[in-house]
Amino acid sequence: MALFYGDLHIHIGSTNSGAPVKITASRTLTLERITQTAKGQKGLDLVGIVDAACSGVLQDLQSLHELGQLKPIVGGGALLNGVTLFLGSEVELVHQDTGKEAHFLAYFADLASIQGYAAALKPHVTNPSLSTQRLRVSPVNWLKLVKEFEGVAIAAHAFTPHKGVYGSCVKRLEEMLSEPSQVSALELGLSANTEMALAVSDTHPYAYLANSDAHSLQNIGREFTVYNLPELNFGAWRSALEDGGRGIWATHGLEPRLGKYYRSWCPRCERLADHETPTFECPYCKDPMVPGVWDRLQSISDHPQVTPAKPPYTAHVPLRLLPGIGPKMYAKLIGEVGTEIDVLYRLPLDEIAAKVGSVIADQIAAVRAGSLSFLPGGGGKYGRVTKGLKR
Ligand SMILES: [Zn+2]
Ligand SMILES: [Zn+2]
Repeated sequence: MALFYGDLHIHIGSTNSGAPVKITASRTLTLERITQTAKGQKGLDLVGIVDAACSGVLQDLQSLHELGQLKPIVGGGALLNGVTLFLGSEVELVHQDTGKEAHFLAYFADLASIQGYAAALKPHVTNPSLSTQRLRVSPVNWLKLVKEFEGVAIAAHAFTPHKGVYGSCVKRLEEMLSEPSQVSALELGLSANTEMALAVSDTHPYAYLANSDAHSLQNIGREFTVYNLPELNFGAWRSALEDGGRGIWATHGLEPRLGKYYRSWCPRCERLADHETPTFECPYCKDPMVPGVWDRLQSISDHPQVTPAKPPYTAHVPLRLLPGIGPKMYAKLIGEVGTEIDVLYRLPLDEIAAKVGSVIADQIAAVRAGSLSFLPGGGGKYGRVTKGLKR
């Protein structure tokens, strides 16, 4: 067995011919640059492309395959520039009674499967070349389609107020999908961690994943999951998700307070909820607040007496969010010390200090010790690290 570091939610900004795919994502997010950044800067072994079913991206993948640059892996998945790629698709499903929307992900073993899935979806979306299309197919029928092409279904950013299934749609997954056991995993999303998710017992059977939902190169790997697999391929990964995530070694999610929706936010008063109870109405002006993930999870919690054991969760703080690490220092760290995962988790502190100085090494030590202070995020605004060190 070996450990593999994976970030399975990365968008494509533009195709190789320059056509847009995810409109709100940076145009520098191309297959080529994603794989280079994931391996060289971040230290990831595995990336999931969630726009792989978009027509232009499928054409690019097909060309790379024909050129022999995208190499299929026995057991599923493909290699590109030394990184394992899983081909996925993010869609917007609509609750049949309430009209509320939630995002879901599907991943497929090979190019032929995702081509079949994309062809089946095509009549039911407005623009098959663009990312995260709203489906004119019921959630139940979407899940059938994923199974038809032997895909793996996952709830995307499951707790966010912006189109997370628990965050904005339902309290139990079966309210959206009549066979929820066909879903393999939930993405915790930027503003939640394992402990917060465990407050809702309906989530317990699913594997919890941390993925970046990157809309820019720099955000690749801001969340990742470590898998313990006999070998890195799609089949082994699929098995790892079973029994609530038996093959997951560790979950490295962004520190929840750094997320965009940690606590509820009042746009009028520009204030964050600070009561230790879930808050949805502003205590000052009584306006409805933009719900926070913490508030939502507390409000739908059934206060389970027993919670299952889940893989260890580490609150990840990306290097560039640390005070004192600007673009120059980041480049120096990556160029002279190691990948972001090496720097944050693997290399001895004295080795880091010798190359970039003790101030930065102390910051890394604080991340490892979990002793940073944070100003929480909310209402779409990220939280931040307030000071590097508690002295
Ligand atoms: Zn989404
Ligand atoms: Zn207010």
